[in-house]
Amino acid sequence: MKTSQRLGAALAASIFATAAVSQEHAHGDHDALLTPYTNTGSIATPLTYIEKYADIPDASAGIPIDPDKGYAVVDLGDGAYFVTEGVYQVMFIEHDDGLILADAPPNIGSRLLTAAEEIAPGKPITHMIYSHAHVDHIGFAAEIAATFPDVEIVAHALTLDKLERAGDARRPLPSVTFDTEGKVFEFNVGGQALSLTYPAPNHQHGNIEIWHEASSTLMLIDVVFPGWMMWRRLALAEDIPGTFDTIRSLNDRYDFETLIAGHVGRPGTKADVDLQVEFMTDLHNAAAGALGSVTPGETVNPEDLANPWAVFDNYIDRVVIECVNTLTPNWEDRMAGFDVYIYDQCLAMEQSIRIDGSSL
Ligand SMILES: [Zn+2]
Repeated sequence: MKTSQRLGAALAASIFATAAVSQEHAHGDHDALLTPYTNTGSIATPLTYIEKYADIPDASAGIPIDPDKGYAVVDLGDGAYFVTEGVYQVMFIEHDDGLILADAPPNIGSRLLTAAEEIAPGKPITHMIYSHAHVDHIGFAAEIAATFPDVEIVAHALTLDKLERAGDARRPLPSVTFDTEGKVFEFNVGGQALSLTYPAPNHQHGNIEIWHEASSTLMLIDVVFPGWMMWRRLALAEDIPGTFDTIRSLNDRYDFETLIAGHVGRPGTKADVDLQVEFMTDLHNAAAGALGSVTPGETVNPEDLANPWAVFDNYIDRVVIECVNTLTPNWEDRMAGFDVYIYDQCLAMEQSIRIDGSSL
């Protein structure tokens, strides 16, 4: 066993260990405390070294990227462009006098400037829109502003609040903000029109929908993951019930053809939204079912029954395993990365059901 595997196995075992002492396998108290659960299925538990993750389904594959350029541009029509380097996504809108850039992920970095020159040679980036405040989506903004000092930055007022508190030089403060909730902020420049909406608390407070009606393109970041499992813990949603509401109403609220979702390597469609709604519904039901069917305290060492944290740790571990086992047969082949984050999703979901009172 490699050191990394042994370390991973030990860490996993310590996290998912039952406190029950197994005499059969015990070689002393320490080993006995590291007995893994016996009912885990084919998906490796967290903090376990994985020699090979599941293959990526064809439907989840990204668009081809020229390795010499390191990014791809898709012309969506009517001045809208989708740009990705395979992991992050942005939108450019060309207008009469320049370009609007929505988001500036450092992972794409200076290739944003190359892409801008490819899309509209000689035209400046006149405006930047921040979808939300997270560094991984806008952390290259200061570099854009250094290249185009007159650039105007637009964001929701809640994003401004977060950026003011962060005081992060990589993310210059927006100069234009709006604070309506559920209402549309119309943004017009150089013959192009964008509608910006903060639907409700979702992935992050202030995370907005950017709608370019002319090309039927909707940009909403870190909420839908076309072809892929959401990033861990429901994409770190600040408001899980709000995220559910935002996703479930998305196809009804917009007549879009293209969804720029922020990750991974291809744009999304309404079918991707439907698939994620179906997954999240199953996830909710699996977690709720496990919370009801698993009995707290059942496998805890009686000596730990006075330790409520230990009782809960053991209970939640078994709830999460039950949730994962319920979902795996139907979902492991339907979205890329299911095996990578399904434990995290079940953990986030059962927690939200218990704490937020999430319901469908
Ligand atoms: Zn984010």
